[in-house]
Amino acid sequence: MYRTHTCGELRIADAGKQVTLAGWVQRSRKMGGMTFVDVRDRYGITQIVFNSESDAALNDAAAKLGREFVIQVTGLVRERESKNKNIPTGDIEIIAQQLNVLNESATPPFTIEDDTDGGDDLRMKYRYLDLRRAAVRKNLELRHDICQKIRTYLSDLKFLEVETPVLIGSTPEGARDFVVPSRMNPGQFYALPQSPQTLKQLLMVAGFDRYFQIVKCFRDEDLRADRQPEFTQIDCEMSFIEQEDILNVFEGLMKTLFREVKGIDFNEPFLRMTWQDAMKYYGSDKPDLRFGMKFVEIKDIMQGHGFSVFDGAEYIGAICAKGAAHYTRKQLDALTDFVKRPQIGAKGLVYARVEADGSVKSSVDKFYDQASLQSLKERMQAEAGDLILIICGPNAMKARKQLCELRLEMGNQLGLRDKNKYACLWVIDFPMYEWSEEENRLMAMHHPFTSPKPEDYGLLDSDPASVRANAYDMVINGVEVGGGSIRIHDAVLQAKIFKILGFTPEKAQQQFGFLMNAFKFGAPPHGGLAFGLDRLVSLFAGLDSIRDCIAFPKNNAGRDVMLDAPAPLDQKQLDELELAVLAKDVK
Ligand code: ASP
Repeated sequence: MYRTHTCGELRIADAGKQVTLAGWVQRSRKMGGMTFVDVRDRYGITQIVFNSESDAALNDAAAKLGREFVIQVTGLVRERESKNKNIPTGDIEIIAQQLNVLNESATPPFTIEDDTDGGDDLRMKYRYLDLRRAAVRKNLELRHDICQKIRTYLSDLKFLEVETPVLIGSTPEGARDFVVPSRMNPGQFYALPQSPQTLKQLLMVAGFDRYFQIVKCFRDEDLRADRQPEFTQIDCEMSFIEQEDILNVFEGLMKTLFREVKGIDFNEPFLRMTWQDAMKYYGSDKPDLRFGMKFVEIKDIMQGHGFSVFDGAEYIGAICAKGAAHYTRKQLDALTDFVKRPQIGAKGLVYARVEADGSVKSSVDKFYDQASLQSLKERMQAEAGDLILIICGPNAMKARKQLCELRLEMGNQLGLRDKNKYACLWVIDFPMYEWSEEENRLMAMHHPFTSPKPEDYGLLDSDPASVRANAYDMVINGVEVGGGSIRIHDAVLQAKIFKILGFTPEKAQQQFGFLMNAFKFGAPPHGGLAFGLDRLVSLFAGLDSIRDCIAFPKNNAGRDVMLDAPAPLDQKQLDELELAVLAKDVK
């Protein structure tokens, strides 16, 4: 037997037992005639004591152990004199009787401790060593736990886990596809699924009624911090349901996860907010509701006082930062610089402080008398000690997005975005379409299979941009953790939606004929959603980056630095695929 116990298992009640452990040397230190070795495995760390008085040869062997050597030790469990309260095995130690070196180790390139000295790149290159660190391992354990609970919850509700193919056809709607050349069909390519969207809908046509899958999805999107080209979704679909049923089932799932994983009970239903309101009051379709600072429109108060910046603005909105009137000139200048950053793009920032005596002092005092500033204070429901921050602009949507960035930044600065607090909501009634400057046409805001709200059908021809969709997102702490919609299940309506999206009937048939055909054979009403597992786990673990809950993630440039992928292909492989590489700067 390699081991009788794991390195995290032994307690004071085991004192006196002879045990055998196996694991990695975390550290070893000599103290007089003794050598103390901490041996580690997935389950924990146990202290082993080698004593030169009782066995000099054994102690010599222990002294030669290097970090990360793999060892097997047999010995007697005994109560420790100086206990270590920080680890579960800290009450005991093992007096070694036998040591077996199972494998040696080169000196690891960084310390395998919670607080490692390894930089990001080094840790990714030696990810298998990084994964030995408890801090990283815990995230993967949490991921497993969350997946288990999801499977149990959904299986109990009769959802079936069905695998869908990874080699499918390309669908240019949406993000860019990753493609795979087919050797047997020269010049032809598979695409990796951006999501199993159409396949899960076909499973509904097939009568599966309730489907889920914890599934890899692939999107060749432009690089953005903390985005992975491959990621995992909890993909779900249901038949014979309405939006309300879906919201209930998946709100139930999230509440179960919170209760069972974090011990947090949400007794109230999740807040529901229309997309319109989310944009109006928070400038975002994923508002962080851990704190207030709801937008207030103040155009009527601020215009007509000779301040040309405001007078020419289409939108003037403000937030009230409670108790932030102490912000110094320097801090306010830094905030102004923040909103003027090219990524945010505001022209400037106007502020007004409510002084202790209730009077208001603003950065544009010369245009406003105290009476107008008092109406501003009233509108903002501001009190002594509060700071009002104002953003304006020629385009209401853009100005709101800028104000949203400012609000989040103030939330950070004032410590209002507490990682241990969770604010969950559904954003509902998304628009069906959004205008794409790049493509110069309407694009589906969610995807082309989302159904319009029946009460908006009449607008599909006359004013498609104002049609609302049966689409919903679940948002937690400003993160979109999941989203979905009630689908179209009628071939005629689906064809009409493709037409509005600029597809010719031929093109729609060529790309989505399989789905529209299926709809002719008795498609049930259906709908669903998908959660982003990586984001969900990061949120539960309080991580800043989704990479930390993925075993082998890619870096921000989309590379796997451990496997050194992507990489050029051998000429032989290219020849077999009948492919030629045109890229000039292949390294
Ligand atoms: N397939 C969608 C997505 O990946 C989710 C859904 O509508 O179910 O965003």
